[in-house]
Amino acid sequence: MKKFNNKNGTLYIIPTPIGNLNDITKRAIKIFKKVDIITTENIQHTNILLKKLKIKKKMFNMQIFNEKKQSKKIIKKLKQKKNIAIVSNAGTPLINDPGYYLIKLCYLNKIKIIPLPGPCAAITALIASGMSSNKFCYEGFLPKKKKKRIKIIKKIKKETRTTILYESPKRIIKCIKDIKKIMGNKKKITLAKELTKKWEKIKKNTTKNILKWLKKNKKNRKGEITIIIKGYKKKKKKKINKKIFKLFNILKKYLKFNKLIKIISKIYKIKKNKLYKKILKYRDKKI
Ligand code: SAM
Repeated sequence: MKKFNNKNGTLYIIPTPIGNLNDITKRAIKIFKKVDIITTENIQHTNILLKKLKIKKKMFNMQIFNEKKQSKKIIKKLKQKKNIAIVSNAGTPLINDPGYYLIKLCYLNKIKIIPLPGPCAAITALIASGMSSNKFCYEGFLPKKKKKRIKIIKKIKKETRTTILYESPKRIIKCIKDIKKIMGNKKKITLAKELTKKWEKIKKNTTKNILKWLKKNKKNRKGEITIIIKGYKKKKKKKINKKIFKLFNILKKYLKFNKLIKIISKIYKIKKNKLYKKILKYRDKKI
């Protein structure tokens, strides 16, 4: 068990709403009131939520580009016994948002961390996607550079679990076009747009139809979007089973080998050369 130093403050990781401000939890509000400082990606944005909750707090800014420098400053404050909450712009901190480096430093400095459950676009989109949700993988944003993006999409093509992607409205057409090109017109995807907001839209369809819908109207590609991709289903290999060998053994007395292969391959829809090789192997076996 990790021992924490009681002389330090505690870091609370607090998810915030992804659109609907009512999605803040009672526990989050209680902690916002209790902590000394709230560290956030965007002070103005977090202020909208705090104003609604009638909470005034000292805030500290931490973004991806200054994460390391700011994390060290936060650690200093925690060591001064200050209790701090980390929030992101929206949703769960650390999920494609700053915070990971700070948590790592907390472990190194034996500072206690208390995480809260709450809103996350990835999970909200997944549960609404109509796709398998027990096993999934989260890929975040695809690379902006085409070559790298294509490479990742090719990997996702063979992923058997449901995949979750974030994408910006600026790149959504390019992204879906690439997915369609690599995974095919019929690949099933779900677009979850503006979740928890007034214009929430959840569309489950093939890549071809989703692309058509996105192109049809500018409005369709506006707002925040999460993409869910159906997992890859391995094609079942047709097994040449005992029944086929038995049939072969019975008929071989009446028909020539090649003729027999032709008939059996037609009945069982197995490729002739595959059947040929297997039967040759088992020809003399008594089944
Ligand atoms: N940490 C956040 C979370 O837990 O959801 C995600 C932050 S990431 C920088 C922002 C991306 O999340 C957006 O570009 C979009 O892909 C997705 N997203 C955020 N809010 C969303 C919403 N209301 N509906 C659909 N997707 C959303």
